[in-house]
Amino acid sequence: EREPTKICAPIMADSVDEMLVFMGKAKASGADLVEVRLDSLKGFRPQEDLKVLVKKCPLPTLFTYRPKWEGGLYDGDEKERLDALQLAMELGADYIDVELQVADEFIKSIHGKKPEKFKVIVSSHNYQNTPSVEELGNLVARIQATGADIVKIATTAMDITDVARIFQITVHSKVPVIGLVMSERGLISRVLCAKFGGFLTFGTLEGGIVSAPGQPTIKDLLNLYNFRLIGPDTKVYGIIGKPVGHSKSPILYNEAFKSVGFNGVYLHLLVDDVAKFFQIYSSTDFAGFSCTIPHKEAAVKCCDEVDPVAKAIGAVNCIVRRQSDGKLCGYNTDYVGAISAIEDGLRGTSKTSTTAASPLAGKLFVVIGAGGAGKALAYGAKEKGARVVIANRTYDRARELANTIGADAISLADLNNFNPEDGMVLANTTSIGMQPKIDETPISKHVLKYYSLVFDAVYTPKITRLLREAQESGAITASGLEMFIGQAYEQYERFTGLPAPKELFREIMSK
Ligand code: NAP
Repeated sequence: EREPTKICAPIMADSVDEMLVFMGKAKASGADLVEVRLDSLKGFRPQEDLKVLVKKCPLPTLFTYRPKWEGGLYDGDEKERLDALQLAMELGADYIDVELQVADEFIKSIHGKKPEKFKVIVSSHNYQNTPSVEELGNLVARIQATGADIVKIATTAMDITDVARIFQITVHSKVPVIGLVMSERGLISRVLCAKFGGFLTFGTLEGGIVSAPGQPTIKDLLNLYNFRLIGPDTKVYGIIGKPVGHSKSPILYNEAFKSVGFNGVYLHLLVDDVAKFFQIYSSTDFAGFSCTIPHKEAAVKCCDEVDPVAKAIGAVNCIVRRQSDGKLCGYNTDYVGAISAIEDGLRGTSKTSTTAASPLAGKLFVVIGAGGAGKALAYGAKEKGARVVIANRTYDRARELANTIGADAISLADLNNFNPEDGMVLANTTSIGMQPKIDETPISKHVLKYYSLVFDAVYTPKITRLLREAQESGAITASGLEMFIGQAYEQYERFTGLPAPKELFREIMSK
Protein backbone atom coordinates (compact mmCIF):
# COMPACT_ATOMS: atom_id res chain seq x y z
CA GLU A 1 0.00 0.00 0.00
CA ARG A 2 1.49 3.30 -1.06
CA GLU A 3 0.87 6.52 0.74
CA PRO A 4 -1.14 9.11 -1.16
CA THR A 5 0.99 11.47 -3.27
CA LYS A 6 1.96 14.55 -1.29
CA ILE A 7 1.82 18.18 -2.40
CA CYS A 8 5.04 20.07 -1.75
CA ALA A 9 5.23 23.88 -1.95
CA PRO A 10 8.61 25.12 -3.19
CA ILE A 11 9.70 28.16 -1.18
CA MET A 12 12.14 30.60 -2.71
CA ALA A 13 12.80 33.97 -1.08
CA ASP A 14 15.58 36.44 -0.29
CA SER A 15 15.09 36.34 3.48
CA VAL A 16 14.14 33.94 6.25
CA ASP A 17 11.27 36.21 7.28
CA GLU A 18 9.79 36.08 3.80
CA MET A 19 10.18 32.30 3.79
CA LEU A 20 8.23 32.06 7.03
CA VAL A 21 5.39 34.06 5.47
CA PHE A 22 5.34 31.70 2.47
CA MET A 23 5.38 28.67 4.79
CA GLY A 24 2.25 29.96 6.51
CA LYS A 25 0.60 30.47 3.13
CA ALA A 26 1.63 26.97 2.02
CA LYS A 27 -0.09 25.47 5.04
CA ALA A 28 -3.19 27.59 4.52
CA SER A 29 -3.41 26.52 0.85
CA GLY A 30 -3.37 22.84 1.78
CA ALA A 31 0.21 21.75 1.00
CA ASP A 32 1.58 18.71 2.88
CA LEU A 33 5.19 19.91 3.10
CA VAL A 34 7.48 22.69 1.91
CA GLU A 35 10.72 22.57 -0.01
CA VAL A 36 13.02 25.28 1.34
CA ARG A 37 15.34 26.38 -1.43
CA LEU A 38 18.34 27.51 0.59
CA ASP A 39 20.11 28.67 -2.57
CA SER A 40 17.52 31.46 -2.98
CA LEU A 41 18.41 33.11 0.37
CA LYS A 42 20.58 36.24 0.34
CA GLY A 43 23.28 36.15 3.04
CA PHE A 44 22.37 32.69 4.32
CA ARG A 45 23.75 31.97 7.84
CA PRO A 46 23.33 28.20 8.29
CA GLN A 47 23.32 27.94 12.11
CA GLU A 48 20.86 30.75 12.87
CA ASP A 49 18.70 30.50 9.77
CA LEU A 50 18.21 26.73 9.71
CA LYS A 51 17.22 26.70 13.37
CA VAL A 52 14.49 29.28 12.75
CA LEU A 53 13.29 27.68 9.50
CA VAL A 54 12.96 24.20 11.01
CA LYS A 55 11.40 25.37 14.25
CA LYS A 56 8.92 27.86 12.86
CA CYS A 57 7.73 25.94 9.82
CA PRO A 58 4.13 24.80 10.33
CA LEU A 59 4.64 21.89 7.89
CA PRO A 60 7.21 19.12 7.43
CA THR A 61 10.35 20.44 5.72
CA LEU A 62 12.46 19.39 2.76
CA PHE A 63 15.75 21.30 2.45
CA THR A 64 17.37 21.73 -0.93
CA TYR A 65 20.53 23.72 -1.59
CA ARG A 66 20.75 23.55 -5.34
CA PRO A 67 24.11 24.38 -6.96
CA LYS A 68 24.44 26.17 -10.29
CA TRP A 69 25.75 23.01 -11.92
CA GLU A 70 22.36 21.35 -11.34
CA GLY A 71 20.16 24.30 -12.31
CA GLY A 72 20.13 26.09 -8.92
CA LEU A 73 21.50 29.40 -7.65
CA TYR A 74 24.32 28.36 -5.26
CA ASP A 75 27.76 29.13 -6.61
CA GLY A 76 30.04 28.55 -3.60
CA ASP A 77 32.10 25.90 -1.91
CA GLU A 78 30.76 22.34 -2.10
CA LYS A 79 31.79 21.33 1.38
CA GLU A 80 29.97 24.28 2.92
CA ARG A 81 26.90 23.37 0.93
CA LEU A 82 26.83 19.75 2.09
CA ASP A 83 27.62 20.77 5.66
CA ALA A 84 24.58 23.04 5.65
CA LEU A 85 22.39 20.14 4.50
CA GLN A 86 23.78 17.88 7.22
CA LEU A 87 23.10 20.63 9.73
CA ALA A 88 19.50 20.86 8.52
CA MET A 89 19.19 17.13 9.21
CA GLU A 90 20.63 17.50 12.69
CA LEU A 91 18.31 20.40 13.46
CA GLY A 92 15.22 18.37 12.64
CA ALA A 93 14.52 18.59 8.89
CA ASP A 94 12.20 15.83 7.65
CA TYR A 95 13.86 15.45 4.27
CA ILE A 96 16.86 16.79 2.45
CA ASP A 97 17.57 16.63 -1.27
CA VAL A 98 21.07 15.91 -2.56
CA GLU A 99 22.13 15.64 -6.16
CA LEU A 100 23.14 12.23 -7.54
CA GLN A 101 26.68 13.45 -8.35
CA VAL A 102 27.48 14.01 -4.64
CA ALA A 103 25.08 11.53 -3.04
CA ASP A 104 27.57 8.69 -2.39
CA GLU A 105 29.92 10.90 -0.48
CA PHE A 106 27.14 12.69 1.39
CA ILE A 107 25.29 9.55 2.46
CA LYS A 108 28.54 8.00 3.70
CA SER A 109 29.25 11.12 5.74
CA ILE A 110 25.91 10.93 7.58
CA HIS A 111 26.13 7.18 8.13
CA GLY A 112 24.94 6.28 11.63
CA LYS A 113 23.80 9.86 12.29
CA LYS A 114 20.42 9.78 10.57
CA PRO A 115 17.50 10.58 12.87
CA GLU A 116 14.78 7.95 12.76
CA LYS A 117 12.14 9.70 10.67
CA PHE A 118 14.58 11.62 8.48
CA LYS A 119 14.82 10.70 4.79
CA VAL A 120 17.29 11.49 2.03
CA ILE A 121 16.03 12.27 -1.45
CA VAL A 122 18.65 11.79 -4.16
CA SER A 123 17.81 13.78 -7.26
CA SER A 124 18.71 13.95 -10.91
CA HIS A 125 17.62 16.74 -13.28
CA ASN A 126 17.61 16.71 -17.03
CA TYR A 127 16.80 20.09 -18.56
CA GLN A 128 17.14 18.87 -22.16
CA ASN A 129 14.85 15.88 -22.66
CA THR A 130 13.44 12.64 -21.24
CA PRO A 131 15.64 9.57 -21.83
CA SER A 132 14.40 6.12 -22.86
CA VAL A 133 12.76 3.81 -20.32
CA GLU A 134 15.93 1.68 -20.22
CA GLU A 135 18.08 4.71 -19.43
CA LEU A 136 15.59 5.90 -16.83
CA GLY A 137 15.58 2.45 -15.25
CA ASN A 138 19.38 2.50 -15.04
CA LEU A 139 19.25 5.96 -13.52
CA VAL A 140 16.84 4.78 -10.81
CA ALA A 141 19.18 1.86 -10.04
CA ARG A 142 22.17 4.20 -9.77
CA ILE A 143 20.27 6.52 -7.46
CA GLN A 144 19.12 3.62 -5.29
CA ALA A 145 22.68 2.32 -5.06
CA THR A 146 23.74 5.51 -3.26
CA GLY A 147 21.52 4.55 -0.35
CA ALA A 148 18.75 7.02 -1.18
CA ASP A 149 15.47 6.66 0.73
CA ILE A 150 13.58 8.40 -2.05
CA VAL A 151 14.50 8.69 -5.73
CA LYS A 152 13.82 11.95 -7.58
CA ILE A 153 13.98 12.19 -11.36
CA ALA A 154 13.03 15.40 -13.14
CA THR A 155 13.24 15.46 -16.92
CA THR A 156 12.00 17.77 -19.67
CA ALA A 157 9.13 17.07 -22.06
CA MET A 158 9.76 17.78 -25.74
CA ASP A 159 6.41 16.10 -26.40
CA ILE A 160 3.52 15.07 -24.16
CA THR A 161 4.26 11.39 -24.91
CA ASP A 162 7.61 11.69 -23.07
CA VAL A 163 5.67 11.72 -19.81
CA ALA A 164 4.49 8.12 -20.35
CA ARG A 165 8.02 6.85 -19.71
CA ILE A 166 8.16 8.55 -16.33
CA PHE A 167 4.79 7.00 -15.44
CA GLN A 168 6.23 3.58 -16.29
CA ILE A 169 9.02 4.22 -13.80
CA THR A 170 6.90 5.50 -10.91
CA VAL A 171 4.19 2.88 -11.30
CA HIS A 172 6.59 -0.08 -11.22
CA SER A 173 9.18 1.09 -8.73
CA LYS A 174 9.51 -0.60 -5.34
CA VAL A 175 11.19 2.44 -3.76
CA PRO A 176 9.37 5.76 -3.46
CA VAL A 177 9.99 7.83 -6.60
CA ILE A 178 9.36 11.46 -7.37
CA GLY A 179 9.02 11.48 -11.15
CA LEU A 180 8.21 14.81 -12.77
CA VAL A 181 8.51 16.16 -16.27
CA MET A 182 9.17 19.86 -16.72
CA SER A 183 7.63 22.32 -19.23
CA GLU A 184 4.03 22.86 -20.30
CA ARG A 185 4.06 19.60 -22.28
CA GLY A 186 4.89 17.79 -19.02
CA LEU A 187 1.99 19.22 -17.00
CA ILE A 188 0.17 15.88 -16.82
CA SER A 189 3.11 14.41 -14.88
CA ARG A 190 2.43 16.88 -12.08
CA VAL A 191 -1.21 15.83 -11.73
CA LEU A 192 -1.23 12.17 -12.75
CA CYS A 193 1.66 11.27 -10.42
CA ALA A 194 -1.18 10.78 -7.94
CA LYS A 195 -2.53 8.00 -10.19
CA PHE A 196 0.82 6.47 -11.10
CA GLY A 197 2.24 6.31 -7.57
CA GLY A 198 4.63 9.29 -7.40
CA PHE A 199 5.84 10.21 -3.92
CA LEU A 200 5.15 13.93 -4.26
CA THR A 201 4.33 16.73 -6.68
CA PHE A 202 5.22 20.39 -6.48
CA GLY A 203 2.47 23.00 -6.28
CA THR A 204 3.22 26.71 -6.17
CA LEU A 205 1.58 29.38 -4.07
CA GLU A 206 -0.61 31.76 -6.00
CA GLY A 207 1.56 34.56 -7.30
CA GLY A 208 4.48 32.67 -5.79
CA ILE A 209 7.70 31.71 -7.50
CA VAL A 210 7.74 28.70 -9.77
CA SER A 211 10.91 26.73 -9.03
CA ALA A 212 10.78 24.67 -12.24
CA PRO A 213 8.96 25.17 -15.56
CA GLY A 214 5.39 23.87 -15.73
CA GLN A 215 4.51 23.74 -12.03
CA PRO A 216 0.79 24.19 -11.34
CA THR A 217 -0.50 26.13 -8.35
CA ILE A 218 -1.60 24.29 -5.21
CA LYS A 219 -5.00 25.84 -5.75
CA ASP A 220 -5.30 24.31 -9.23
CA LEU A 221 -4.08 20.92 -8.00
CA LEU A 222 -6.67 20.86 -5.24
CA ASN A 223 -9.64 22.76 -6.67
CA LEU A 224 -9.32 22.38 -10.43
CA TYR A 225 -7.90 18.84 -10.73
CA ASN A 226 -9.28 17.42 -7.43
CA PHE A 227 -5.81 16.05 -6.69
CA ARG A 228 -6.83 14.34 -3.43
CA LEU A 229 -9.43 12.26 -5.25
CA ILE A 230 -6.99 10.88 -7.85
CA GLY A 231 -5.86 7.28 -7.34
CA PRO A 232 -4.72 4.24 -9.34
CA ASP A 233 -8.23 3.59 -10.73
CA THR A 234 -8.97 7.16 -11.76
CA LYS A 235 -9.79 7.44 -15.47
CA VAL A 236 -8.03 10.14 -17.47
CA TYR A 237 -9.87 12.58 -19.76
CA GLY A 238 -8.73 15.78 -21.38
CA ILE A 239 -8.87 18.38 -24.08
CA ILE A 240 -6.40 17.85 -26.90
CA GLY A 241 -5.36 21.05 -28.64
CA LYS A 242 -2.56 23.47 -29.42
CA PRO A 243 -2.76 25.96 -27.84
CA VAL A 244 -4.95 24.58 -25.08
CA GLY A 245 -4.07 26.34 -21.82
CA HIS A 246 -6.93 28.83 -22.14
CA SER A 247 -9.65 26.14 -22.30
CA LYS A 248 -12.34 26.25 -19.64
CA SER A 249 -13.31 22.61 -20.22
CA PRO A 250 -11.23 21.21 -17.31
CA ILE A 251 -13.12 23.44 -14.87
CA LEU A 252 -16.43 22.22 -16.19
CA TYR A 253 -15.76 18.47 -16.29
CA ASN A 254 -13.76 18.18 -13.07
CA GLU A 255 -16.40 20.08 -11.13
CA ALA A 256 -19.09 17.86 -12.63
CA PHE A 257 -17.11 14.65 -11.95
CA LYS A 258 -16.69 15.68 -8.33
CA SER A 259 -20.35 16.59 -7.92
CA VAL A 260 -21.43 13.00 -8.64
CA GLY A 261 -18.37 11.17 -7.29
CA PHE A 262 -17.27 10.02 -10.76
CA ASN A 263 -13.70 8.69 -10.57
CA GLY A 264 -12.14 10.72 -13.39
CA VAL A 265 -9.81 13.65 -13.93
CA TYR A 266 -9.92 16.01 -16.92
CA LEU A 267 -6.69 17.70 -18.07
CA HIS A 268 -5.32 20.21 -20.54
CA LEU A 269 -3.39 18.12 -23.07
CA LEU A 270 -0.94 20.14 -25.15
CA VAL A 271 -0.55 17.80 -28.11
CA ASP A 272 1.67 18.37 -31.16
CA ASP A 273 1.01 15.10 -32.98
CA VAL A 274 -2.38 13.57 -32.30
CA ALA A 275 -1.56 10.18 -33.90
CA LYS A 276 1.52 9.77 -31.72
CA PHE A 277 -0.47 10.77 -28.66
CA PHE A 278 -2.98 7.96 -29.19
CA GLN A 279 -0.27 5.47 -30.08
CA ILE A 280 1.48 6.02 -26.72
CA TYR A 281 -1.49 6.58 -24.44
CA SER A 282 -3.31 3.47 -25.57
CA SER A 283 -4.47 1.91 -22.30
CA THR A 284 -8.05 2.03 -21.08
CA ASP A 285 -6.87 4.40 -18.33
CA PHE A 286 -6.95 7.13 -20.99
CA ALA A 287 -10.68 7.06 -21.42
CA GLY A 288 -11.98 10.09 -23.26
CA PHE A 289 -10.92 13.22 -25.10
CA SER A 290 -12.29 16.47 -26.37
CA CYS A 291 -10.54 17.66 -29.47
CA THR A 292 -10.06 21.23 -30.59
CA ILE A 293 -8.06 23.44 -32.98
CA PRO A 294 -5.98 22.29 -34.90
CA HIS A 295 -6.57 18.53 -34.43
CA LYS A 296 -10.28 17.97 -35.15
CA GLU A 297 -9.70 16.79 -38.70
CA ALA A 298 -6.50 14.77 -38.11
CA ALA A 299 -8.11 12.99 -35.16
CA VAL A 300 -10.67 11.32 -37.46
CA LYS A 301 -7.92 9.04 -38.78
CA CYS A 302 -6.92 7.99 -35.26
CA CYS A 303 -10.35 6.60 -34.42
CA ASP A 304 -11.20 2.92 -34.87
CA GLU A 305 -14.83 3.86 -35.39
CA VAL A 306 -16.27 7.18 -36.53
CA ASP A 307 -19.88 8.13 -36.03
CA PRO A 308 -21.61 8.76 -39.41
CA VAL A 309 -22.25 12.40 -38.53
CA ALA A 310 -18.59 13.03 -37.69
CA LYS A 311 -17.64 11.19 -40.87
CA ALA A 312 -19.91 13.42 -42.95
CA ILE A 313 -18.54 16.55 -41.26
CA GLY A 314 -14.94 15.28 -41.56
CA ALA A 315 -14.08 16.32 -38.01
CA VAL A 316 -14.37 14.83 -34.53
CA ASN A 317 -14.46 16.85 -31.34
CA CYS A 318 -15.15 13.96 -28.96
CA ILE A 319 -13.30 10.65 -28.71
CA VAL A 320 -14.28 7.91 -26.29
CA ARG A 321 -12.25 4.80 -25.57
CA ARG A 322 -14.62 1.87 -25.31
CA GLN A 323 -13.69 0.16 -22.05
CA SER A 324 -14.64 -3.34 -23.26
CA ASP A 325 -12.10 -3.49 -26.10
CA GLY A 326 -10.04 -0.29 -25.90
CA LYS A 327 -11.22 0.95 -29.31
CA LEU A 328 -11.41 4.69 -30.00
CA CYS A 329 -14.81 5.96 -31.12
CA GLY A 330 -15.07 9.45 -32.62
CA TYR A 331 -18.08 11.76 -32.58
CA ASN A 332 -18.93 15.31 -33.50
CA THR A 333 -21.01 17.00 -30.85
CA ASP A 334 -20.20 20.55 -31.99
CA TYR A 335 -23.35 21.01 -34.00
CA VAL A 336 -25.83 19.69 -31.43
CA GLY A 337 -25.67 22.60 -29.00
CA ALA A 338 -25.59 25.24 -31.72
CA ILE A 339 -28.49 23.83 -33.70
CA SER A 340 -30.69 23.30 -30.66
CA ALA A 341 -29.93 26.83 -29.39
CA ILE A 342 -30.96 28.17 -32.79
CA GLU A 343 -34.13 26.02 -32.86
CA ASP A 344 -35.03 27.15 -29.35
CA GLY A 345 -34.55 30.75 -30.39
CA LEU A 346 -36.79 30.35 -33.43
CA ARG A 347 -39.50 28.55 -31.47
CA GLY A 348 -39.57 31.34 -28.91
CA THR A 349 -38.76 31.07 -25.27
CA SER A 350 -40.91 28.00 -24.64
CA LYS A 351 -38.33 25.21 -24.48
CA THR A 352 -40.98 22.63 -23.83
CA SER A 353 -42.35 22.87 -27.36
CA THR A 354 -42.88 19.39 -28.69
CA THR A 355 -43.43 20.18 -32.36
CA ALA A 356 -41.79 17.40 -34.28
CA ALA A 357 -40.77 19.52 -37.27
CA SER A 358 -37.72 21.72 -36.91
CA PRO A 359 -38.34 25.46 -37.25
CA LEU A 360 -35.24 25.41 -39.47
CA ALA A 361 -37.03 23.40 -42.17
CA GLY A 362 -37.19 25.45 -45.36
CA LYS A 363 -35.29 28.44 -43.92
CA LEU A 364 -32.39 30.09 -45.70
CA PHE A 365 -29.42 29.48 -43.39
CA VAL A 366 -26.22 31.45 -43.96
CA VAL A 367 -23.04 30.04 -42.38
CA ILE A 368 -20.03 32.36 -42.18
CA GLY A 369 -16.85 30.25 -42.16
CA ALA A 370 -15.90 26.84 -43.54
CA GLY A 371 -13.62 25.45 -40.83
CA GLY A 372 -14.44 22.81 -38.23
CA ALA A 373 -17.30 24.74 -36.63
CA GLY A 374 -18.60 25.94 -40.02
CA LYS A 375 -18.76 22.37 -41.34
CA ALA A 376 -20.60 21.20 -38.25
CA LEU A 377 -23.17 24.03 -38.38
CA ALA A 378 -23.73 23.66 -42.13
CA TYR A 379 -24.23 19.92 -41.75
CA GLY A 380 -26.59 20.35 -38.81
CA ALA A 381 -28.70 22.99 -40.60
CA LYS A 382 -28.89 20.83 -43.72
CA GLU A 383 -30.02 17.85 -41.62
CA LYS A 384 -32.87 19.97 -40.27
CA GLY A 385 -34.04 20.76 -43.77
CA ALA A 386 -32.67 24.28 -44.16
CA ARG A 387 -31.39 25.67 -47.47
CA VAL A 388 -27.75 26.40 -46.65
CA VAL A 389 -25.41 29.09 -48.01
CA ILE A 390 -21.73 29.15 -47.01
CA ALA A 391 -19.92 32.50 -46.94
CA ASN A 392 -16.18 32.26 -46.45
CA ARG A 393 -13.15 34.50 -46.80
CA THR A 394 -11.48 31.84 -48.92
CA TYR A 395 -14.16 31.24 -51.50
CA ASP A 396 -12.74 27.88 -52.61
CA ARG A 397 -13.23 26.40 -49.15
CA ALA A 398 -16.82 27.64 -49.14
CA ARG A 399 -17.33 26.04 -52.56
CA GLU A 400 -15.85 22.73 -51.43
CA LEU A 401 -18.02 22.53 -48.33
CA ALA A 402 -21.09 23.59 -50.31
CA ASN A 403 -20.46 20.82 -52.82
CA THR A 404 -20.03 18.22 -50.09
CA ILE A 405 -23.26 18.91 -48.27
CA GLY A 406 -25.39 20.26 -51.08
CA ALA A 407 -25.39 24.02 -50.42
CA ASP A 408 -24.56 27.31 -52.16
CA ALA A 409 -21.36 29.28 -51.71
CA ILE A 410 -20.55 32.97 -51.75
CA SER A 411 -17.48 34.91 -50.76
CA LEU A 412 -17.46 36.73 -47.46
CA ALA A 413 -17.05 40.03 -49.31
CA ASP A 414 -20.44 39.48 -51.02
CA LEU A 415 -22.30 38.93 -47.77
CA ASN A 416 -23.09 42.62 -47.28
CA ASN A 417 -25.07 42.65 -50.56
CA PHE A 418 -26.74 39.30 -50.02
CA ASN A 419 -30.46 39.72 -49.27
CA PRO A 420 -32.54 37.37 -51.41
CA GLU A 421 -35.32 37.16 -48.81
CA ASP A 422 -36.49 38.14 -45.34
CA GLY A 423 -36.36 35.97 -42.23
CA MET A 424 -33.03 34.28 -42.90
CA VAL A 425 -30.83 32.67 -40.22
CA LEU A 426 -27.17 33.72 -39.81
CA ALA A 427 -24.43 31.77 -38.02
CA ASN A 428 -20.92 33.14 -37.58
CA THR A 429 -18.38 30.32 -37.15
CA THR A 430 -15.20 32.35 -37.63
CA SER A 431 -13.24 33.86 -34.78
CA ILE A 432 -14.08 37.40 -35.95
CA GLY A 433 -15.19 39.43 -32.90
CA MET A 434 -13.45 37.18 -30.39
CA GLN A 435 -11.41 38.69 -27.57
CA PRO A 436 -9.26 40.74 -27.81
CA LYS A 437 -10.62 42.07 -31.13
CA ILE A 438 -14.12 42.66 -29.84
CA ASP A 439 -14.75 45.65 -32.16
CA GLU A 440 -14.75 43.44 -35.24
CA THR A 441 -17.79 41.91 -36.89
CA PRO A 442 -18.14 39.71 -40.00
CA ILE A 443 -21.12 41.54 -41.57
CA SER A 444 -22.35 45.12 -41.74
CA LYS A 445 -25.25 46.08 -39.59
CA HIS A 446 -27.48 47.36 -42.42
CA VAL A 447 -28.11 43.84 -43.81
CA LEU A 448 -28.95 42.30 -40.45
CA LYS A 449 -32.59 43.38 -40.88
CA TYR A 450 -33.03 40.51 -43.36
CA TYR A 451 -32.28 37.96 -40.63
CA SER A 452 -34.79 36.75 -38.07
CA LEU A 453 -32.13 34.98 -35.97
CA VAL A 454 -28.39 35.51 -35.59
CA PHE A 455 -26.05 33.01 -33.91
CA ASP A 456 -22.37 33.55 -33.04
CA ALA A 457 -20.02 30.63 -32.21
CA VAL A 458 -17.66 33.07 -30.49
CA TYR A 459 -18.34 33.05 -26.75
CA THR A 460 -15.67 35.36 -25.42
CA PRO A 461 -17.26 37.90 -25.02
CA LYS A 462 -20.70 36.41 -24.46
CA ILE A 463 -22.36 39.25 -26.37
CA THR A 464 -20.24 40.00 -29.43
CA ARG A 465 -20.60 43.10 -31.58
CA LEU A 466 -22.45 40.91 -34.11
CA LEU A 467 -25.01 39.81 -31.52
CA ARG A 468 -25.44 43.34 -30.16
CA GLU A 469 -26.09 44.77 -33.63
CA ALA A 470 -28.43 41.89 -34.40
CA GLN A 471 -30.47 42.68 -31.28
CA GLU A 472 -30.57 46.35 -32.29
CA SER A 473 -31.85 45.27 -35.71
CA GLY A 474 -34.67 43.31 -34.10
CA ALA A 475 -33.29 39.78 -34.64
CA ILE A 476 -33.47 36.97 -32.11
CA THR A 477 -29.97 35.98 -30.96
CA ALA A 478 -28.33 32.76 -29.82
CA SER A 479 -24.87 32.77 -28.26
CA GLY A 480 -21.75 30.61 -28.54
CA LEU A 481 -22.06 29.85 -24.86
CA GLU A 482 -25.17 27.78 -25.65
CA MET A 483 -23.16 25.91 -28.28
CA PHE A 484 -20.33 25.32 -25.82
CA ILE A 485 -22.63 24.09 -23.07
CA GLY A 486 -24.61 21.91 -25.47
CA GLN A 487 -21.55 20.11 -26.87
CA ALA A 488 -20.25 19.70 -23.32
CA TYR A 489 -23.49 17.94 -22.21
CA GLU A 490 -23.13 15.53 -25.07
CA GLN A 491 -19.50 14.77 -24.34
CA TYR A 492 -20.07 14.37 -20.61
CA GLU A 493 -22.77 11.79 -21.24
CA ARG A 494 -20.54 9.86 -23.63
CA PHE A 495 -17.60 10.00 -21.22
CA THR A 496 -19.44 8.95 -18.08
CA GLY A 497 -22.59 7.18 -19.23
CA LEU A 498 -24.40 9.50 -16.82
CA PRO A 499 -26.80 12.36 -17.54
CA ALA A 500 -24.97 15.70 -17.56
CA PRO A 501 -25.59 18.01 -14.58
CA LYS A 502 -27.04 20.75 -16.79
CA GLU A 503 -27.77 23.24 -14.03
CA LEU A 504 -24.24 22.92 -12.69
CA PHE A 505 -22.76 23.48 -16.18
CA ARG A 506 -24.80 26.66 -16.59
CA GLU A 507 -23.83 27.86 -13.15
CA ILE A 508 -20.11 27.29 -13.77
CA MET A 509 -20.21 28.93 -17.20
CA SER A 510 -22.07 31.97 -15.92
CA LYS A 511 -19.21 32.67 -13.49
P1 NAP B 1 -11.06 26.74 -38.01
O1 NAP B 1 -11.36 25.34 -38.41
O2 NAP B 1 -9.65 27.21 -37.92
O3 NAP B 1 -11.85 27.72 -39.06
C1 NAP B 1 -11.74 29.10 -39.04
C2 NAP B 1 -12.72 29.75 -40.02
O4 NAP B 1 -12.71 31.16 -39.73
C3 NAP B 1 -12.32 29.62 -41.49
O5 NAP B 1 -13.48 29.55 -42.26
C4 NAP B 1 -11.55 30.92 -41.75
O6 NAP B 1 -11.63 31.36 -43.09
C5 NAP B 1 -12.32 31.88 -40.90
N1 NAP B 1 -11.55 33.04 -40.46
C6 NAP B 1 -10.61 33.06 -39.49
N2 NAP B 1 -10.14 34.31 -39.32
C7 NAP B 1 -10.82 35.09 -40.19
C8 NAP B 1 -10.78 36.49 -40.50
N3 NAP B 1 -9.95 37.30 -39.85
N4 NAP B 1 -11.60 36.95 -41.44
C9 NAP B 1 -12.44 36.14 -42.10
N5 NAP B 1 -12.52 34.81 -41.87
C10 NAP B 1 -11.72 34.29 -40.92
O7 NAP B 1 -11.71 27.07 -36.60
P2 NAP B 1 -13.03 26.43 -35.92
O8 NAP B 1 -12.68 25.24 -35.12
O9 NAP B 1 -14.09 26.29 -36.96
O10 NAP B 1 -13.42 27.58 -34.89
C11 NAP B 1 -13.86 28.84 -35.36
C12 NAP B 1 -14.42 29.69 -34.23
O11 NAP B 1 -15.53 29.05 -33.63
C13 NAP B 1 -13.44 29.94 -33.09
O12 NAP B 1 -13.57 31.28 -32.69
C14 NAP B 1 -13.91 29.02 -31.99
O13 NAP B 1 -13.61 29.54 -30.71
C15 NAP B 1 -15.39 28.99 -32.23
N6 NAP B 1 -15.97 27.74 -31.72
C16 NAP B 1 -16.90 27.85 -30.72
C17 NAP B 1 -17.48 26.72 -30.20
C18 NAP B 1 -18.49 26.85 -29.11
O14 NAP B 1 -18.76 25.85 -28.44
N7 NAP B 1 -19.06 27.99 -28.92
C19 NAP B 1 -17.13 25.45 -30.69
C20 NAP B 1 -16.20 25.38 -31.75
C21 NAP B 1 -15.63 26.53 -32.24
P3 NAP B 1 -10.57 30.84 -44.22
O15 NAP B 1 -11.12 29.54 -44.72
O16 NAP B 1 -10.61 31.92 -45.25
O17 NAP B 1 -9.24 30.72 -43.53
